[in-house]
Amino acid sequence: MTGEQTVIDLRSDTVTRPTAAMREAMARAVVGDDVLGDDPTVKQLEARAADMLGKEAALFFPSGTMANLAALMAHTEPGEEVLVGEASHIYYYEVGGVSRVAGLLPRLFVDGDTEPTPAALEALLRAPDVHFPKTGLLCLENTHNRGGGTVLTPAKTEALARVARAAGFPVHLDGARVFNGAAALNVDVKALVEPVDSVMFALSKCLSAPVGSVLAGDEQFIARARRRRKLLGGGMRQAGVIAAAGLVALETMVHRLRDDNDVAAELAAALARIDGIGLDAAAVQTNIVIFAVPEDTDAPTMARRLAEHNVRASVMDARHVRFVTHRHIDADAIPAIVAAVRASL
Ligand SMILES: *Cc1c(COP(=O)(O)O)cnc(C)c1O
Repeated sequence: MTGEQTVIDLRSDTVTRPTAAMREAMARAVVGDDVLGDDPTVKQLEARAADMLGKEAALFFPSGTMANLAALMAHTEPGEEVLVGEASHIYYYEVGGVSRVAGLLPRLFVDGDTEPTPAALEALLRAPDVHFPKTGLLCLENTHNRGGGTVLTPAKTEALARVARAAGFPVHLDGARVFNGAAALNVDVKALVEPVDSVMFALSKCLSAPVGSVLAGDEQFIARARRRRKLLGGGMRQAGVIAAAGLVALETMVHRLRDDNDVAAELAAALARIDGIGLDAAAVQTNIVIFAVPEDTDAPTMARRLAEHNVRASVMDARHVRFVTHRHIDADAIPAIVAAVRASL
């Protein structure tokens, strides 16, 4: 058994541990019962997050999955259809909650390797007819996880949102890593979320907080989402203990995300030089690097061999492995990662 220090964990940025400042803030947090509206630290986090995103209000959630689900439910009525990417986290990784819990019919558009175009969304719209479900919502994802951390620019987000607006339904952005996207474009995160009605982002990923995600939107939407959060079992009591870490995350972690993106770019360039690895390094925009394994192996085998060489990775499908860079991965680790990949071929 090797020591924890020697393992390079690239499975996800969720593995980041809270900083000393976060633990300190958690220990000192002033708390109350947040279901009764009494937790000042939760309120402070929600106000700060809403302000940073340029939205009226925000709501603290135990996870991004729950925040997305509450958003779907707050924007729609059961039985409506929701336009969602076939490679999106909401459709692919959230246990089918969109149908099972929210009672919605996913109508899929192609995303991931390619971005949806406004024309592709328009092609899904149908004139009202007694046969058709009502279209209730468009969901976008920025950065796009299965797309390899790709960024939707403000202009593209606006062009896609305009299709929904013209058709009379709102837009929800799954922005778990939207701060990585803002860092990559060197823009204020407000620019990326301005075109959408609601946005979720994760505190527990690149921002290093131990727990939590935030959903933001207008006051009325957040009031509806609060009821859905309670319904889903996400009403938390002295949640200020974890919200305190989220506040520190917003104050201290956002500015350093360029580093994670830069390490990912450097890592991708090094991996792309390895024979047999399928990777377009120029397409890596943020902290996610997805590569194809050589023909003579498969992704689960590759991930297992990497683990034997003390590098942990995620399997995306039979042929693709994912590395995610984060606060615990410096550029210094790149030679060891590359060596582990070579040794695993
Ligand atoms: C991680 C992630 C989520 C879900 O967040 P959890 O806190 O893990 O439930 C949603 N969307 C995207 C794009 C993600 O990467």
